Amino acid sequence: MLISLAKMAASSVTKFRVELHCHLDGSIRVSSLYELAKKRGSPYGQKPFEEFKNDVTYTEIGNLTKFLKTFKIFIPWIVGDREFIKRMAYELCEDKANQGVAYIEMRYCPHFFASAKVAELKRVDGDLTPHGVVQCVNEGLKEGCKDFGITAKSILCCMRGFSAWSPQIIELCKEFHNDTVVGIDLAGDEDLPLTDHEVKAFEEAVRCGIHRTVHAGESGPSAHVKTAIDVMKAERIGHGYHVLEDEKLYERVLEDQIHFEVCPMSSYYLSSAGTENFRKHPAVRFAKDNLNFSFNTDDESIFETSLPNEFNVGYNKMGLSEAVLTKLVFNAARSSFLPENEKLDLIRHLQGVYGMTNNVNTSQCNTL
Ligand SMILES: [Zn+2]
Repeated sequence: MLISLAKMAASSVTKFRVELHCHLDGSIRVSSLYELAKKRGSPYGQKPFEEFKNDVTYTEIGNLTKFLKTFKIFIPWIVGDREFIKRMAYELCEDKANQGVAYIEMRYCPHFFASAKVAELKRVDGDLTPHGVVQCVNEGLKEGCKDFGITAKSILCCMRGFSAWSPQIIELCKEFHNDTVVGIDLAGDEDLPLTDHEVKAFEEAVRCGIHRTVHAGESGPSAHVKTAIDVMKAERIGHGYHVLEDEKLYERVLEDQIHFEVCPMSSYYLSSAGTENFRKHPAVRFAKDNLNFSFNTDDESIFETSLPNEFNVGYNKMGLSEAVLTKLVFNAARSSFLPENEKLDLIRHLQGVYGMTNNVNTSQCNTL
């Protein structure tokens, strides 16, 4: 009974938001993680919930070591657990539906949850391969979409520092193309070098019509944004705040309408926007210059945020107008990796919700 009521609640919420940059492993319900910690017999599961929550979230400023440590606490509990992997994808759909999200692209690197064929992490003896992880996530997403009236797709992440995985990631993208997987990403520490493996994987993505986004210019320099566009043929940039260091490049991304996936609270806590003053956040300039960008959570459980909260930050702390914030929703829809017909359906749905009656095609949305 409770479950069916929850389903009804999430499926009946008006869906008027779009999110493009959300990491599955950073968006797991803390209550579900707590259950899992207990099931695994971890000492973390013995702690009171509030103390546990403090361990697996990150709300300090500029302490990258603690941020990275949070993932290291709970990822080992998930490795090889088909049921939990499916559950976290399913619950993400419910949580996002409750936030009024009509469409979400969530991303992950399947190797982090696999117990087999991941020699780099010394995981070879289990029975869940990265391929099996994608199947579990897909099942969770499909069921979540059905139950909560949301559309959810996925992006598979290559990881800087784990180059050997990149050829496998692109093969998984090809096999599951449009079977929830709509794109490829490059994530991980920007200080680590880009290798031929990533470049080749992205070349293959171009050849196969698989969409591309790259984490660049978050902690790294504007040159990384340039490389992402010129070498990786990225259609979207994850974060990209440091693009402002290179005016010429900035003019070019404005002209070419390259989409920037901005994550306000993430940039605040990880000090990637170069300021703790939201009025001076790069997004304020992006808005003024009519850059094609969106608001996203990045890792909503870790940062204890949500998509509505990110928009509140935009309104209350950055001083962005409602018109600008509405435009960000349409920017996200237009720059989504959905097949063109589904993208048009999403845009029409949003137009209906926002009371726009004109027929607007995907390219015109940028001028809303
Ligand atoms: Zn990210």
